[in-house]
Amino acid sequence: MHAGDPLSSHFRLSDAHTKALNRLGIKMVRDVLYHFPARYEQAGGSGSVAELVAGQDVTLVGSLEKLEAKKSWKSRVPMTEGFLRDDSGRIKLRWFNQPYIAKMYAEGALVRASGKVTGSEGKLYLANPSLQKISIEEAGMFTPEEVSAELFAVYPESRGVSSLWFRSAIKKIFDAGVEMNDPLPPEMLKKYNLPTLHSAVVWIHQPKELKNATAARKRFAFEEVFLIQVERNRERAALSKEQGFRVEASHADMAEFMDDFPFAPTAAQKRAVAAILKDMQRGAPMGRLLEGDVGSGKTAVAATAAYATVRTRPAGQNFGTLQVAYMAPTEILAKQHFESFIQYFEHFPINIGLITGNGCYKFPSKISRTKATTISRAQLLKWVAGGEIPVVIGTHALIQKSVKFKHLALVVIDEQHRFGTNQRRALARKEKTLPHLLSMTATPIPRTLALTLWGDLDLTLLDEMPPGRKRVITEVVAQGERAAAYEKIRAQLKEGRQAYIICPRIDEPDPEKLFALQAKSVKAEAKRLQKDIFPEYRIGVLHSKMKPKDKDEVMVQLLAHEIDILVATSVVEVGVNVPNATVIMIEGAERFGLSQLHQLRGRVVRSVYQAYCFVVPESKGEATVARLKALVEAKNGFELAELDMAQRGPGELAGNKQWGISDIGMEALKNLKLVEAARTEAQQLVAHDPTLRAHPTLKAAVESRTAAMHFE
Ligand code: ADP
Ligand code: MG
Repeated sequence: MHAGDPLSSHFRLSDAHTKALNRLGIKMVRDVLYHFPARYEQAGGSGSVAELVAGQDVTLVGSLEKLEAKKSWKSRVPMTEGFLRDDSGRIKLRWFNQPYIAKMYAEGALVRASGKVTGSEGKLYLANPSLQKISIEEAGMFTPEEVSAELFAVYPESRGVSSLWFRSAIKKIFDAGVEMNDPLPPEMLKKYNLPTLHSAVVWIHQPKELKNATAARKRFAFEEVFLIQVERNRERAALSKEQGFRVEASHADMAEFMDDFPFAPTAAQKRAVAAILKDMQRGAPMGRLLEGDVGSGKTAVAATAAYATVRTRPAGQNFGTLQVAYMAPTEILAKQHFESFIQYFEHFPINIGLITGNGCYKFPSKISRTKATTISRAQLLKWVAGGEIPVVIGTHALIQKSVKFKHLALVVIDEQHRFGTNQRRALARKEKTLPHLLSMTATPIPRTLALTLWGDLDLTLLDEMPPGRKRVITEVVAQGERAAAYEKIRAQLKEGRQAYIICPRIDEPDPEKLFALQAKSVKAEAKRLQKDIFPEYRIGVLHSKMKPKDKDEVMVQLLAHEIDILVATSVVEVGVNVPNATVIMIEGAERFGLSQLHQLRGRVVRSVYQAYCFVVPESKGEATVARLKALVEAKNGFELAELDMAQRGPGELAGNKQWGISDIGMEALKNLKLVEAARTEAQQLVAHDPTLRAHPTLKAAVESRTAAMHFE
């Protein structure tokens, strides 16, 4: 068997299985080998039936009784029920949607069953337990210590394929023997004391001891971070060879532009501008990431870069200008940037276009130097293609084929870090010259993650807030203080301000269910607040189940102050500047990472008024309150992101789902040394062998990873 073989050539798969495996991205033998266990259970079981308590994760060893497929009487969902008996008693087993289980086991079969103890006292059952058959020898002929020395793998839960399926597939693959080429060079394994691919695969799926599994996980973590780094370094190397636009703006010009800001730029903004201008003069395309908390003034930096660009003539021409595309994640944000740009460019004779799904605009209008006007899409596209409109702002709509530029020299991407490189290429498809890229984000992430994800970009931190900005007064609302917090919110509302109330985070892997649950909790909370707490104010709701159009409408109402209080989920990107909103209350705060809380708090940071954030934990534990107190003291989001990483792991980082790194890779990011080692190795390897000619297996691995990421 070869790792690159399709699964179907070695396994008989039902349609349902194939579908379930496809959902997990598993198509080849290799994919099964790289589908890593979430955890390991002791073979001998971790408890006995008589001692179970609800909520516990347990592995029991015993015999099966009376397995039977049925339909649940309420919802008619197919299910299987039965019992597991050990020396101390028996407990019910219950599976939903797995009617075939009953056929797979004989009455009295010996198994180990792992699952969550569910239900209430006297009516406990194991929900969707994973089963593994065990032999009489295993169950009877060893001492309990010997049995419990063996570990078995439990795989991430996924509908339609069980842990059992994975364990037996792995066994089958190992029994047949599998050929695999190791993408990591042997010298590297030796240097970092990492197991070979072959050992690691065996150890991670069938560890004899936990420390083997740990060594294997470390290897795969290194491998993943290394592959990402190799890819990023190749991109960087390729980029540095490309011809870029030489943007030459005089210092006097730039100073004049910035002097017209209604404020003095911060030192951090000046540093960022200087770095960007230097990049853009160099000749090779810039790749820079500007990271700064909400309100740190990224737009002004982007506007300055845009100005430098549009002040430059295309090479060999004494007319026309280079062009800028500015991409925002939502229409409302695109509109806001358009308005900001109008302000920044007020004194300069430059046309600015806005493309949205609901119409196109141009600034200035023919009639007024200070106003924008609507124009037809066709007209706007014509002017963009002809180069008459040098600055174009929009959403993803900018990437559409119909949008063509004449001399696109700078692409600014706001809050869309994931797409940077591809979208630059998509935007530049017509150009021989690759435009400069300025990617901006307020997502606070730790250094290791930034190094890994954006190894191809240079990083600038905007780590200073404009002066005079009032800090958000943050309070952790302890038990018994809720009513007082509501009164403080009411005081703000009475002053004519507006408020956000964020409902607790819900953990539910199935997005459909998640959205439904969130919608329910938002609606219920809004209803309760309207009835019991704020009957005199207008309350709006925002959640992911709403259509984009309805979401936009709510945000427009909020901006227009037709809503006083917005009750929302955290998942909804409330990334819009509503300067009149001065209070945010976050319920179930301990369910969020600190950096997420910080981002939520960022919603009220823009206000000219003093802003407040009430952080309401559900639990009253001291540790919880202490952790949340970091929000009161931390200087910026990066500090909180590092804290999250150290205290609770990468799972808590804001937006962690969108980064395309596996759980194992994310775990590795806690380890700065490992990340730096992988990065150094990748840099050296790419410097010596940019085409990876001497490392064909590595090359294939990098390319298949990249292809998978771009395909998503
Ligand atoms: P973000 O980094 O979140 O994109 P913005 O660029 O939207 O921040 O800026 C937030 C607000 O701060 C805007 O109203 C902007 O005019 C203002 N601002 C930006 N830079 C400064 C500065 N140096 N001094 C004072 N206000 C500033
Ligand atoms: Mg911004």
